[in-house]
Amino acid sequence: MTAADTLADPRIPFPDTDRPLACRRNPEWFRHDPYDPDPTARATGDLEQARKACGRCPIARQCLLWALAHPELTRTDIWAATTLQMRGALRRRLTLRLGEDWVAQVAATEKARAQRARRTPAP
Ligand code: SF4
Repeated sequence: MTAADTLADPRIPFPDTDRPLACRRNPEWFRHDPYDPDPTARATGDLEQARKACGRCPIARQCLLWALAHPELTRTDIWAATTLQMRGALRRRLTLRLGEDWVAQVAATEKARAQRARRTPAP
């Protein structure tokens, strides 16, 4: 078991997909380390490219939910077009709206959504 496995919240797993993802093809675009002591080295990625790629990503919504539910695993880099600071702001809004255990509520909503999708016949 890796450290990432220990920190993973099974209620919101990273979306399973075999589609090609820009962050796997071009990980250098997504590099953003707000903790780097050298301010000029904090954003070495191409944020504009990363954000555009996330905007076209088929799993962007699920990726964002995973990133929000996993603050310890997303302390750096761009996830679903968000920086660490943006994710912090979104978590604060979710806490205000849904309470401290917002992850449980989001996970329940996602589970219901997945069940509905399975019941809906493909066009
Ligand atoms: S939305 Fe997430 S999975 Fe998709 S390209 Fe962006 S970082 Fe990768």
